[in-house]
Amino acid sequence: MNLQERDRAVNWHPYTQMKTADDAIPIVKGKGVYLFDDKGNKYIDAVSSWWVTLHGHAHPYIAQRVSEQLNTLEQVIFAGFTHEPAIQLSENLLKLLPQNQQKVFYSDNGSTAVEVALKICIQHAYNQGKEKTKILAFKNAYHGDTFGAMSVSGRSVWTKPFGEMLFEVIFIDTPTSENIEDLKAQISAYQDEVVCFIYEPLIQGAAGMLMYNAEDLDNLMKFCRANGILMIQDEVFTGFGRTGKLFAANYLSEKPDIMCFSKGLTGGTMPMGITTSTNEIFEAFLSDDKYKTLFHGHSFTANPLACTAALASMELLLNDETQKNIQRISEQHFHFLNILKEHSKVENVRQTGTILAWEIKNDHKTSYFNEIGKKLYDEFLSRGIVMRPLGNVMYLVPPYCISSDELNFIYENILEVLNCL
Ligand SMILES: *Cc1c(COP(=O)(O)O)cnc(C)c1O
Repeated sequence: MNLQERDRAVNWHPYTQMKTADDAIPIVKGKGVYLFDDKGNKYIDAVSSWWVTLHGHAHPYIAQRVSEQLNTLEQVIFAGFTHEPAIQLSENLLKLLPQNQQKVFYSDNGSTAVEVALKICIQHAYNQGKEKTKILAFKNAYHGDTFGAMSVSGRSVWTKPFGEMLFEVIFIDTPTSENIEDLKAQISAYQDEVVCFIYEPLIQGAAGMLMYNAEDLDNLMKFCRANGILMIQDEVFTGFGRTGKLFAANYLSEKPDIMCFSKGLTGGTMPMGITTSTNEIFEAFLSDDKYKTLFHGHSFTANPLACTAALASMELLLNDETQKNIQRISEQHFHFLNILKEHSKVENVRQTGTILAWEIKNDHKTSYFNEIGKKLYDEFLSRGIVMRPLGNVMYLVPPYCISSDELNFIYENILEVLNCL
């Protein structure tokens, strides 16, 4: 049996209707922006392998650091024990975050980073004897696929089978200068019942790269602050340079209470999630009463290999070359954005830093199951480019190591494909 047949026999793929899906493409090697399949074809990874790969595949520096760590300490229980990579990573990360972020809690992925954030906020109220259980989130939000993360995500085809079992959440629109007063009134209706507000800052990724203004978010955050609502800023997607700045937080003047990270955290090398919090929140769990402990943990909490990959990736992220690349990609995107804006088949072109998105005009309104998405996916794949449209929304989220020529190659192919629609 070849790899595809063996895969069919045993593997169940994510977000994939296994009956109708094409065979998965066996990837045997990655290098920089390229993925290589078993037949020797190469593909530019224009979506950073589901938005995680920052510095390209199989980066030699990250590989070297992880391999050294692998020969030193691969894993240790993080209750009762600690290690240099976790301490160093926490120190390095906190230096880059809003100054009120003071404590780091480790987990394995974006969904768990969100679960931890929600549990911290709810127990923070509980430990103080406050009865607050309502959570505020944006319509169309995406915070992950575990039950808590699904609950605070917009209700959609993805959450439908579980509808009854998801906890109740107050969903509001993303803020604009027009609706902001209305949003405040909607929140005020719940008076003191709202424990926290969770949001994807500036960009709702999985919803289709929907973008909104920092100023309006600041306005909403100010209101939450004044009303004692804790803020969870989910930077799982926006973190580590994606938006053109290190974090979406760098566009905001208000500071969240809790932040969530994953995806680019390790440069896309290893799974890891982080939830950070303020000292004020941390202190509400300090007590002689054992019941006030945060009873949460994962077997692989603060895995030393993942911490080391994150340390190496952050070092690469902060160097001049990467910072220049991020600016260059942002500028190249902006230039191409202006070309796309003129295209008759395209609408709603938008950009934040290295993220560029646009929609294919069509008669049947946007839908995740939109046929055009699959057709475009196949067309780009045949041209050696991995794109993964969300319905009729197309986007580019490239690794920062992508060269000017490689980006231009993608742009040219996009125009050729658009001209054939
Ligand atoms: C992807 C994503 C998550 C979930 O992360 P996983 O590692 O896939 O569980 C959470 N929040 C946001 C904003 C995301 O984009």
